[in-house]
Amino acid sequence: MDYYDRAAELEALSRDIALATRKQEGPAPTGYCLNCGETVSPGHRWCEVACREDWEARRRAKREAPCAEC
Ligand SMILES: [Zn+2]
Repeated sequence: MDYYDRAAELEALSRDIALATRKQEGPAPTGYCLNCGETVSPGHRWCEVACREDWEARRRAKREAPCAEC
C-alpha cells in the first residue's frame, strides 16, 4: 500500500465517521411524508424533494415568526 492508497483510505474513514455522527435535523422518520402524509419507504421523511422543501420553508417561517405566546 503506498502513501496515496493510505490517504484515500483515511479520507473514506473520516467521511464514514462524519456521516455516522452527523446529527439528523428535525423529527425522526415516521414512515409517512412529514409534509403531505403520503406513505414513504422506511427511513425517509418526505415522499419527494418538493415536499421536503415545502416542509423546510414552513418550519423556517415558523421559527422566524415572532412568538405568539410572549
Ligand atoms: Zn409528501
